Amino acid sequence: MSDGKNAIKLNYDTGWEYAAAPESTDHININDRYELFIDGKFTAPKSGAYFDTINPANEKTLASVAQASKADVNRAVKAARGAYDNVWSKMKAAERGKYIYRIARIIQERAREFAVIESMDGGKPIREARDVDIPLAAAHFFYYAGWADKLDYAFPQKTPKPLGVAGQIIPWNFPLLMAAWKIAPALACGNTVVLKPAETTPLTALKLAEVIQAADLPPGVVNIITGDGSTGAAIVDHDDIDKVAFTGSTDVGRIIQRALAGTDKKYTLELGGKAANIIFEDAPIDQAVEGIVNAIFFNQGHVCCAGSRLLVQESVAKEVITKLKERMQTLVVGDPLDKNTDIGAINSAAQLERINDYLALGQKEGAEMYQAGGKTPKKGYWCQPTLFTDVAQSHRVVREEIFGPVLAIQTFRTLDEAVSKANNTQYGLSGGVWTDKGAKIFKVGQNIRAGVIWANTFNKFDPTSPFGGYKESGVGREGGLHGLSAYVNLH
Ligand code: ADP
Repeated sequence: MSDGKNAIKLNYDTGWEYAAAPESTDHININDRYELFIDGKFTAPKSGAYFDTINPANEKTLASVAQASKADVNRAVKAARGAYDNVWSKMKAAERGKYIYRIARIIQERAREFAVIESMDGGKPIREARDVDIPLAAAHFFYYAGWADKLDYAFPQKTPKPLGVAGQIIPWNFPLLMAAWKIAPALACGNTVVLKPAETTPLTALKLAEVIQAADLPPGVVNIITGDGSTGAAIVDHDDIDKVAFTGSTDVGRIIQRALAGTDKKYTLELGGKAANIIFEDAPIDQAVEGIVNAIFFNQGHVCCAGSRLLVQESVAKEVITKLKERMQTLVVGDPLDKNTDIGAINSAAQLERINDYLALGQKEGAEMYQAGGKTPKKGYWCQPTLFTDVAQSHRVVREEIFGPVLAIQTFRTLDEAVSKANNTQYGLSGGVWTDKGAKIFKVGQNIRAGVIWANTFNKFDPTSPFGGYKESGVGREGGLHGLSAYVNLH
């Protein structure tokens, strides 16, 4: 908590700085060791193997977490199948809805604890975890709880039937929120679940397992197992899984798609992105600069729909880049638990290395790199917000997903050129447009091949709105009514 003294102090070397305002961790309870959540109970992994999850802001171990093997995946799928056959698929829909509402309410009650643990385990600023991740996770459970007893009205002239057991694999960028995106619609439609969080951010999913216990869900309806890619692969390959829902890298998405080819398992894949944010000369420039910062720098660029490419109209390019550099100098990089922090820790050493490789590569390719500078803590994984200008479409920093606070800037002269550059990517998850003119918004929106287009804003989410990609950004949609159809067969 803030000590309440001098919210702001003046530092004559670097300009205005905020006094530290760290969030308290007194109310947080993290066990030394976590087991697998199978059939309503925490149970040791058959192999006896565990791995550590660390705090990327100080490299300290937070907990030891079970590594699920094939045998554990078997147990989890068996529990999910039993719960599906005997309890969940037979339960009245309104009763299912009550359980989901209960999960939503408990997450709200424990929101602070969830936010702090999310920040500690993943490195994201507490402000994001507190204001975005956790409220949205609760909102997803609320939203889909409401659908549980209205499914018959969701698909006119069709009768929806659950699929059975869903295997769900999620990444480290929005750990609890991704779990909510996956679990809530699956349960509302009458499916049971085996979920695996990412190996670097398992803690809030394990806390969610505690919530599920507290909500008294019938055992086996939700099973949460931890482990690495081999655990994920064992879920995908399991014969008794009816549906795979995956969010993560395009590379792993491809492996999963290959593994599922020729089976009758349904799947949704939410993969990488390289979103373009397009700024026209008639845009409110200050607002747009703030939007760019939000699109790529907040959250360390750890967002698959991050606006990692900026397309700015030539006539305002100089102004936008100058203002952006000025704004970058005021961004606070550091302790994720400090409420003033804009950019937290990079999620893992491996991810930081990957980002640094791209920074070196961008310069080698001939781009001009700009970083605001500033100090970062000695321990932990940090990356200053970075701009690349003088880039060509062929540069890898323009084409490939970096997943860090790194922005590549290109210019354009006409709307058609902007759209064609925006579409010149293998990805198609999201995009943004900044202009004063509604007609331009519609024209750009209609012509960009991406699942979500934001206008005069960026990275805004709502449970009622579908999300998903074109091209190599994925298959299927999550969220909203579309998200329900991914968990039912329609007769
Ligand atoms: P990221 O690049 O975002 O870390 P990954 O695609 O590597 O994304 O990981 C996302 C999730 O997929 C994690 O939970 C990870 O353990 C899991 N995973 C990794 N490899 C595989 C695989 N071959 N099959 C299934 N899941 C996998």
